[in-house]
Amino acid sequence: MLHESLIDDARTIAGLITDLRRAIHAEPELGLNTPKTRDKVRAALAHLPLEWREGASTTGLVAVLKGRAGEGRSVLLRGDMDALPMPEETGLAFASTVAGRMHACGHDAHTAMLAGAAELLCRRADSLRGEVRFMFQPGEEGFHGARFMIEDGLLDPLPDAAFALHIMPTAPHGLIAGRAGPLLAAADQLDIVIEGRGGHASMPHQTRDPIPVAAEIILALQTMVTRQFDAHDPVVVTITKLDAGTAHNVIADRASLRGTMRTLSRAARHGRRSRCARCRRRAW
Ligand SMILES: [Zn+2]
Repeated sequence: MLHESLIDDARTIAGLITDLRRAIHAEPELGLNTPKTRDKVRAALAHLPLEWREGASTTGLVAVLKGRAGEGRSVLLRGDMDALPMPEETGLAFASTVAGRMHACGHDAHTAMLAGAAELLCRRADSLRGEVRFMFQPGEEGFHGARFMIEDGLLDPLPDAAFALHIMPTAPHGLIAGRAGPLLAAADQLDIVIEGRGGHASMPHQTRDPIPVAAEIILALQTMVTRQFDAHDPVVVTITKLDAGTAHNVIADRASLRGTMRTLSRAARHGRRSRCARCRRRAW
């Protein structure tokens, strides 16, 4: 059975893939510039019959495996390489060695898993038709890494199919899940600035205090999400940063909010009102 031999093969390289993941974990890199991670990938796969493509805009890599069983479709497998700007406090032996950076989203695992897939599929090149492209993408955390790689021509001509995954620490070990339709949300960033007029905290009536306005906006956003969007087409709005003021007794001139919006459909992302399924009227 092909899948049984695949699992047996995967077990033979499990230690190498774990080592690669931990090496990447110890040296996290951010954004579009992940040269150490790229070099680790290249070194791990240097012995394989892959064609490599790199572009000018990022440290992204595409490795192409040509099947030896004839012409066929082109399938892309994608893993992301960048880490998050946050400190690691796990105390693990392979914890981040770079202050303020951590592979907390699991992209170290994605990169190592994709390298493992390249190894296993290269061993089966004789029975593969078409080609498999392994896309190692930096800049997933809001840096448009995939777009830059596409603009650099690294995926030309576009593949017939593309697959990606994300690990989920809350899922049971060994479970692989998927579904038809969107699985991961679009992520948009919100920046809101409230311009007020500051003054002394003992005389708020002589100011235009931006902080209560910011507080109302934060709560109103939550109400808006639950009252104006269909609960079956999920929208999440989260304010993650609130900046205002400098002292106990000074009302600030301005307040700023930062956050994220997650949507699973184009309609929700563009704030289009959904239609009633029965009468086709706008729902609000
Ligand atoms: Zn992630």
